Amino acid sequence: MECIFCKIVNKELPSEIVYEDDEILAFKDINPKAPVHVLIISKKHIGSVNELKKEDKDLIGNLILVAKNMAEKTEINKIGYKLCFNVGKGAGQMVNHLHLHLLGGWTESVPKHNI
Ligand code: AMP
Ligand code: ZN
Repeated sequence: MECIFCKIVNKELPSEIVYEDDEILAFKDINPKAPVHVLIISKKHIGSVNELKKEDKDLIGNLILVAKNMAEKTEINKIGYKLCFNVGKGAGQMVNHLHLHLLGGWTESVPKHNI
């Protein structure tokens, strides 16, 4: 299997896991763009938001709820945080396995540009 996030799901590649359930895995981004940068992914391989089907709507809702809980746990919710899906190469998507970026932990002004 070529997909690196599938390999992380299958524990064939190491990662710093911060949350796991039957359908979702969350782990620290290896190259963080914010003091707190967590990737929340579906265990099922879905290439991107472009490939989402109606039957995935609970999964997507759950990804966002995991992100929200993670923001509470790390207390980045006190100042604010960003949630981002990059969709497609032109938007900077490097890994073709659906993932939600959770970014936060700034103590001063929020960066003006996105990731
Ligand atoms: P994107 O550009 O939206 O596809 O984001 C992919 C993210 O995955 C980037 O922020 C990378 O730093 C991160 N990343 C790539 N490989 C790994 C890895 N092995 N473990 C953790 N994060 C990774
Ligand atoms: Zn995958």
